[in-house]
Amino acid sequence: MKNIPSIHQSPSQPQKLAALRQAHQDWNNTPDVLTRLTRRLSTTLSLEQQLAILAEELVAIVPFSALNYRHRIGKQDFVYATGMGGPHRCEYRLSLEGVNYGTLVLQRRQRFSEQELEGVEMVLSAAICPIRNACQYVAIEQASLTDSLTGIPNKRALDDALQRSSLLSERHGEPYSLVLCDLDHFKTVNDTHGHVVGDHLLQLAACEIEKSIRTSDSVYRFGGEEFAILLPHTSEQDARDVAERVREAIAAIRVDGGEKELKVTTSCGVATFLPKEAPQAWLARADEALYRAKHQGRNCTRVFATIS
Ligand code: GH3
Ligand code: MG
Ligand code: MG
Repeated sequence: MKNIPSIHQSPSQPQKLAALRQAHQDWNNTPDVLTRLTRRLSTTLSLEQQLAILAEELVAIVPFSALNYRHRIGKQDFVYATGMGGPHRCEYRLSLEGVNYGTLVLQRRQRFSEQELEGVEMVLSAAICPIRNACQYVAIEQASLTDSLTGIPNKRALDDALQRSSLLSERHGEPYSLVLCDLDHFKTVNDTHGHVVGDHLLQLAACEIEKSIRTSDSVYRFGGEEFAILLPHTSEQDARDVAERVREAIAAIRVDGGEKELKVTTSCGVATFLPKEAPQAWLARADEALYRAKHQGRNCTRVFATIS
């Protein structure tokens, strides 16, 4: 059996621990604004919460009546605004190692003095690392909800949206409709023209769907060659019209396929949300309508009718 060395506490360890305990207490109760700010910012990765913390700490040092922050992250414009503006403003472009992390504007009725501007800069330089992390977190979150081929939201995003939409439809008594589109005989397209052409066609189809719907509607890549369109405040009849418009737009796509021009058709299934229905049951009804469209000849739209 080997000798296990006994653990000797170095004489300075109790002192080190006592010092640590003191430092921890100081850290928690510090009146030092920068320590408190960075400690508070490190508690969250939410950009919105970080800006709220920043606004709260900053206004205590340099009073302002409005704070506005704007940053384009991926396809999304992130905007945070608090308070009412004033005629005097100072604007900061937040950047770290040459990368931009948004623009922050403070406003108020009185001019900002040089010392105050210097103070704002010191606070912002302490906040920039946590803000960078929060921006990167938004970007990663966005990527996890986006389909990389077409750039539109993916199935995960659809699940979230269906959940939200059924709650909203229930609360406001407004109709919400769902359209599922499945490209017809897409396997043959791939087999005949190859996956690269197939991928290109999927991108064009996503583009055509986006062009055919309103900005309040949203389209998702639901599966390989399947798209889902969520239509808020849209009745069964209106959703059917949207599905037909989308179907025609996809049928009008032309791709140079060598000897012959390549085109594709789609089948659509429509279902309008029913009160008290689970989101997955709503999706299943749209899928059932799509199944009927496939079995009744493809290149057509079928509705899971709820109105007799
Ligand atoms: P149907 O009319 O019954 O829908 O026939 P289909 O051939 O479209 O349906 P099936 O489910 O048999 O095949 C779907 C095809 O979609 C097979 C697969 O190769 C293709 N697909 C799925 N995802 C992608 C993708 O990301 N890129 C490409 N190029 N093809 C894909
Ligand atoms: Mg399919
Ligand atoms: Mg298909």
